[in-house]
Amino acid sequence: MKHKGSCHCGQIRFEVEGSFDEVVECNCSHCSRKGYLLWFVPRGQLTLHSAESALATYTFNKHAIKHHFCPNCGCAPFGFGASNGTEMAAVNVRCLEDVELASVKRKSVDGRSF
Ligand SMILES: [Zn+2]
Repeated sequence: MKHKGSCHCGQIRFEVEGSFDEVVECNCSHCSRKGYLLWFVPRGQLTLHSAESALATYTFNKHAIKHHFCPNCGCAPFGFGASNGTEMAAVNVRCLEDVELASVKRKSVDGRSF
């Protein structure tokens, strides 16, 4: 199935193909501050419906992951990176339209200890 997603103001719009059983809730300094609930998919499953130039980008630590956010409203709907040579997208399911957050199973990841 296709999930539609966006930032709050709509400057960033995208679709993600697929489905998820659980999402990752990580306690690292970055994820905890942003409140990410992440679903990891191959990059090709995410289609951007707005210009790349609409994306602001934050990187830290090894600068391996591009954490994108909207420079207008501040929402952080996804990040891009590579895992074992595969381009991946980490989708923040909080920014998807059709997700009932209370019913999403969360898997805690202790990123603070990595
Ligand atoms: Zn926005």
